[in-house]
Amino acid sequence: MKYYILFGPPGAGKGTQAKQIVEKYNYLHLSTGDLLRHEMAEGTELGKKAAELINRGDLVPDEVVEGMIRNKIAANRDVKGFLFDGFPRTIAQAEVLDAMLPEFGGKVDAVLSLTLPDELVYERILHRAMIEGRKDDTDRATIEHRISTYHSKTEPLISYYKDKGNYREIEGNDTIEHVFTAICKILDE
Ligand code: AMP
Repeated sequence: MKYYILFGPPGAGKGTQAKQIVEKYNYLHLSTGDLLRHEMAEGTELGKKAAELINRGDLVPDEVVEGMIRNKIAANRDVKGFLFDGFPRTIAQAEVLDAMLPEFGGKVDAVLSLTLPDELVYERILHRAMIEGRKDDTDRATIEHRISTYHSKTEPLISYYKDKGNYREIEGNDTIEHVFTAICKILDE
């Protein structure tokens, strides 16, 4: 069973690429953002707590997303592989994932990292706001906070995975097709 991480700043195109990857390779797409938005839409206690943080552009607590990921991996033992999208987002989450996967007989096979400069992150998020209507995509202060949270808490994962030798970078400022081709090349190795 393969375990891949789709990594990158908000707006880098992770969701768009994830859809195509799982279609082609039959992996299970696990987006912690999608799982949290589902909780919000259902109006669960967790969803209500998460909404406050998400709409401010803060991260939800590590334990919350770690628990979600563990449950999904444990409940899907018959898939070919997993594609994590938006997880891990902190060093603590990455360490928990590294400790968790061996319990399921696996490891992180590769980190597919989509790069995008800050100016474009902003543009892409505003563009997505018009299409998906996400509340955390519409408010300027929220977007800025998400970008700074990405730099302070999530970007350090790049050196974390570079040190482990499974980090692969893909230019995100390109067409959807070119980015997908570059990703497939790595997955087909
Ligand atoms: P995304 O759809 O990946 O952009 O996630 C939307 C929001 O959900 C983020 O801005 C965070 O508030 C929250 N979130 C998603 N994934 C995580 C995670 N791995 N750790 C903490 N918060 C997360």
